Amino acid sequence: MIGTKRDILEILNMPEEAFLRDVLPKALRAREAQFGNRILLSAMIGYTNVCKNQCLYCGMRAGNSALKRFRVAPEDVIALGTRAAAHGYRRIFLIAGEDPKYGFDGLLHIVKAFKDAGMFVSLACGEFDRVQYGELKAAGTDEYVLKFEMSDSESFNRMNPSTTFARRMEAIETIRALGLALASGNIIDWPGQTAEELADDILLMKRLGISWAPVIPYLPALHTPLFETHHRGSLEKLYKEIAILRLMMPAIRITAQQPGADLKKGLSDPEANDAAIRAGANLLFYDLLPDPLAADFRVIDERHITGPQHAEALSETYGYVIDTDA
Ligand code: SF4
Repeated sequence: MIGTKRDILEILNMPEEAFLRDVLPKALRAREAQFGNRILLSAMIGYTNVCKNQCLYCGMRAGNSALKRFRVAPEDVIALGTRAAAHGYRRIFLIAGEDPKYGFDGLLHIVKAFKDAGMFVSLACGEFDRVQYGELKAAGTDEYVLKFEMSDSESFNRMNPSTTFARRMEAIETIRALGLALASGNIIDWPGQTAEELADDILLMKRLGISWAPVIPYLPALHTPLFETHHRGSLEKLYKEIAILRLMMPAIRITAQQPGADLKKGLSDPEANDAAIRAGANLLFYDLLPDPLAADFRVIDERHITGPQHAEALSETYGYVIDTDA
């Protein structure tokens, strides 16, 4: 039973060998007890890579003039998503930079269309006010993804200079208060993060009662201030956090679309995804954006998620049942 910061720190600080022997198998069993051999596969669309913000770690930050920007018009987003719905995808994840010029009415129109198509609609479009979150809920949004990224307020304010930790947490609490499912989480092992901070992040996810942990290790993105640190987040810490989250919150979704040792393979390397699944993760994505645009949705450098082929490869190689109907 993991409940306290001390329990979490004990796992974060234990040698990898002990973790693999004593903790990881328990997390794997907890995932299997909850979901059997099913791994969820959600459709996703990054509908605009324009962002007004300047997060220090993100390749889509406003200051990155090397990035080619795009917006996918609402009708084109709807066409992509409804085609996926016709192929049996019941879950759609819409993700975007904070792009004030992407009309809010257009976003509401998209949400309504997907709700009418019977989909579970999950949105990650940044900070809005209470009225806008209410309108998104009324239009049919089921879940809102707003990561707190790091629970230490000073670190957050330094890394995310376009907003504040107080504002981010207020938005998160508004989402909860409106009754939307909340997905939230952290960046694992960003340059300078301590084990204490990582443990606090995990405790915050638990306190918030999240539906999905959209977690990922820190990965470098060209043309960002943090790129110069030449750091990349540790896979050992990634697997430890996934296992702790699974043991603390057995029923949540945890992102399995994770990198492996070779960053050039992106987030769709079946071996790397399997390693995350073995630690307790259970959610994969199918990027519906056509190739030239998908490559420019560049929060990190090697993000590419190839069609549903990676999920099919996981199923064939490791025997998972891929579930698009959840
Ligand atoms: S992390 Fe999100 S809000 Fe920050 S710069 Fe990137 S796209 Fe914009």
